[in-house]
Amino acid sequence: MNKSKNKSKNSTFTCRVCGTIVSSDGAGTEHRNHCPVCLSSVHLDVEPGDRAADCGGVMEPIGVWVRKNGEWAVIHRCKRCGTLSSNRIAADDDPVKLMSIAVKPLASPPFPLELLNRYSEFEKK
Ligand SMILES: [Zn+2]
Ligand SMILES: [Zn+2]
Repeated sequence: MNKSKNKSKNSTFTCRVCGTIVSSDGAGTEHRNHCPVCLSSVHLDVEPGDRAADCGGVMEPIGVWVRKNGEWAVIHRCKRCGTLSSNRIAADDDPVKLMSIAVKPLASPPFPLELLNRYSEFEKK
């Protein structure tokens, strides 16, 4: 196996999904691994930054979660092999895009919203 240890901090890549040229400047992290515009990533790492995965599939952002310290992280799922990974958000990630992912389950709940009315009426009795 040819494991090239490429430790360039200012790596630049072109987003495979939306074509944005992404540089790690301004990300506030050395492990800039996703696009700040569409938040998509590519399945390259097993551990952040190690480039040890040889899948290369596009990883789409499927969710947002909040870590213990209040820090947001994006959950990525590989379109090719289904691997899930969690990644810290970067300082310049699009906040609107992040919010739209975060509210997705609320915007399309798996039950009719009228059910919530029924619960609140139930509590009044
Ligand atoms: Zn993108
Ligand atoms: Zn993969």
